[in-house]
Amino acid sequence: MRPELHLETLAVHAGGEADAHNGSVAPPLHLSTTFKHGPAAERLAGYEYQREGNPTQDRLETALAALDGGDAALAYGSGMAAMTAALECLPAGSEVLIPEDCYAGLRSLGAEFLPERGVTVRRVDQCDAAAVAAAMTPAVRMIWAETPSNPQLRIADLAALSAIAKQHGALLAVDNTFATPALQRPIALGADVVMHSTTKYMGGHSDVMGGALVFAKRDALFEKAAHRRHITGNILAPFSAWLTLRGLRSLPARMAWHCANARRVAEFLASQPAVETVYWPGLPTHRNHAIAARQMSDFGGMVSVTFKGGREAALAFAGAVEVFTNATSLGGVESLIEHRASVEGPNPVSPPGLLRLSVGLEHGDDLVADLQHGIDALR
Ligand SMILES: *Cc1c(COP(=O)(O)O)cnc(C)c1O
Repeated sequence: MRPELHLETLAVHAGGEADAHNGSVAPPLHLSTTFKHGPAAERLAGYEYQREGNPTQDRLETALAALDGGDAALAYGSGMAAMTAALECLPAGSEVLIPEDCYAGLRSLGAEFLPERGVTVRRVDQCDAAAVAAAMTPAVRMIWAETPSNPQLRIADLAALSAIAKQHGALLAVDNTFATPALQRPIALGADVVMHSTTKYMGGHSDVMGGALVFAKRDALFEKAAHRRHITGNILAPFSAWLTLRGLRSLPARMAWHCANARRVAEFLASQPAVETVYWPGLPTHRNHAIAARQMSDFGGMVSVTFKGGREAALAFAGAVEVFTNATSLGGVESLIEHRASVEGPNPVSPPGLLRLSVGLEHGDDLVADLQHGIDALR
């Protein structure tokens, strides 16, 4: 695919060449675990064994790299698998700066598993680039950013973080799950590697798990991660790769609708006296709205909200809505709502009254009417 094509066009076509043997326009799904070779293991068509590489995965990785503007991509069995793979490329003795508000799995990795490998994680307020610069030491080998963050929709200035990382010879990795390349392209802002939970918007239909790393360059970091994936077996099944590729085709179109609905939801909630705070980077009242407006083309489909009535009000609200389903995860066609503290285990970190909404592709009027039922339940 010519790289100058627009994102919408790349999303539809990248990795989608018609099948060379039979001309099928929709990509074939190759389930074979093994590929015929010559008597001395000569590769006849480029493949040997599914764990090392396979045609369906190649199509997905071509599309992922094209969308994020990277040189290469690697697909994994989940977002956490991709995240772990990136962090495990760091040498023992490394420190990683992670955001104060971030995906709970990243915090667990940092608390439970990375220290076993000699990698230390430190939390820093990444909404404040000066705080990140002040936290840099020679041991910091990577800044791990997540913007917008889960669940508080905090925004980090990626160009500023990239400049800080480069100054210290460290890598910048960005969890781009909430924004997707349709709204934000971290590599163009200086990131070395982009991570996705493709389970969310990329798959887009709440029916396939997966994760991905997209590398700015096909460099030593990429080679290391690719070799590790082959040996550790941290792969995506071909059917999952195929479904994810199918989801990617409509990603930019879906994101536009998610964003438009999220704006209606955020503005509706912000106008309610019972509401304490609406977290959505598109609101001018958001702490880093200006940075979001500069580095994102739109503000995403995720909205969090807290109520003046705290936890009780949040639970009453979540119990009264019907179009929004109470469930975890995000990025699917259907709207979801979740009281985060209730799913964060024994030591929740989210504000006790916070609900996270994944705004889906229903009609905006129906979503707002449903949320009105939630508000009515508070009286
Ligand atoms: C869901 C999520 C992950 C983890 O991805 P899985 O596919 O569930 O393993 C990582 N980061 C963010 C921001 C997420 O929302």
